[in-house]
Amino acid sequence: MDILDLIKSRDPNEREFHQAVTEVVESIKPVLDRNPHYRSANILERIVEPERVIMFRVPWVDDDNNIRVNRGFRIEMNSAIGPYKGGLRFHPSVNLGILKFLAFEQVFKNALTSLPMGGGKGGSDFDPKGKSNMEIMRFCQSFMTELSRHIGPNTDVPAGDIGVGAREIGFMFGQYKRLRNEFTGVLTGKGLDWGGSLVRPEATGYGAVYFAAEMLAVDGRTLKDTRSLVSGSGNVAQYAMEKLIELGSIPVTFSDSSGYIYDEKGVDQEKLAFIKELKNVRFGRVSEYAEEYPEAVYVPVDPTADCNPLWNHKADCAFPCATQNEINPKDAANIVANGVNVVSEGANMPTMPEGVDLFIQEKIMYAPGKAANAGGVSVSGLEMSQNSMRISWSREEVDNRLRVIMKNIHKRCLDTAQYYGTPRNYVNGANISGFTKVADAMMDLGVV
Ligand code: GLU
Repeated sequence: MDILDLIKSRDPNEREFHQAVTEVVESIKPVLDRNPHYRSANILERIVEPERVIMFRVPWVDDDNNIRVNRGFRIEMNSAIGPYKGGLRFHPSVNLGILKFLAFEQVFKNALTSLPMGGGKGGSDFDPKGKSNMEIMRFCQSFMTELSRHIGPNTDVPAGDIGVGAREIGFMFGQYKRLRNEFTGVLTGKGLDWGGSLVRPEATGYGAVYFAAEMLAVDGRTLKDTRSLVSGSGNVAQYAMEKLIELGSIPVTFSDSSGYIYDEKGVDQEKLAFIKELKNVRFGRVSEYAEEYPEAVYVPVDPTADCNPLWNHKADCAFPCATQNEINPKDAANIVANGVNVVSEGANMPTMPEGVDLFIQEKIMYAPGKAANAGGVSVSGLEMSQNSMRISWSREEVDNRLRVIMKNIHKRCLDTAQYYGTPRNYVNGANISGFTKVADAMMDLGVV
């Protein structure tokens, strides 16, 4: 049976997982043709099946003494090249299919970093929005009480993702330490005072911008004096904007689930400080930015619209840093029509497949998330190394390593795409290069 038919018949409702697998399978066809041993060892069938899926009840008590129940998950997808590694997402949209897509992407992303990390992902359908600090703490403690049985510094090392930042990692680390009586590097994205790494908060956003700079450098160009569309306003978007400003690009948009901001003059360091305070301290909405800076326009989300107007502004670069499938085919057409020729994905799988096809057909420099946003998990890998050595590297040391890693990922993708006859197709480059590393390791390890 064809692998796509197999996963669709086995798990018919996991739409995002089917989408992620389809993209990889299309890219690696020429690899399977040239290397029949992968087919005879049934690597594809093995790589799409998680090594282990853990699903559990997360009971907790809210501030009004009501007992609440959420669902917790950890997908341990592939450990052929290292312990499972990947974030935890707390968002009401979380379900098994979403986490399987994220875990699947993570396997290839982590392989691209060149660090020894397998792939995993987890989370809960818990909605942190509007919850008190104490509710967040009680939820995190309950979630970790079960998760702690399944993870460990040499087994599975979770981190943050949407809805899980330093605060949540802190509560979960505290609970793990208490339950196990062990201070270990079991989570990454930790606070600096208790085992975290410098540059981890910045790493995903900075990395996506470093990757864009590498793509431009192939043509002898830079980000200086370009205009950039950014979506999202969380950790990834904030630090993408910070690095863009530093490298001379002008971010003109950003967003949250309520709407988006268009700032013709661009976000500068001072305005960015306002966004960070708004989002990280006050947990406010982006509309407040337009109240503070009246030259900016706030556009609320229109649920009946067939496209997102954020992507319909003149610009040179686009950095989708919000969530999966945020760029539909019409948005992709608008991006192309507005003169954008660099797209670097800070989010995981933000572009729908027809959009990806359009970018490739129009010869846009398009970097898929598994390559462009690998900076986050790379610095998580560096956090693990520092924890094992019981030392902390300086900001320069970590940032330099991050730059080198992003440069190498870019080169690997570029060279692989060229070798397989699809020059500058970063989708093929990333998928093939990630796949061969994991597949070769699986071959070496036997049928396990
Ligand atoms: N959630 C991030 C990602 O999608 C980071 C994972 C990690 O640091 O383990 O890659």
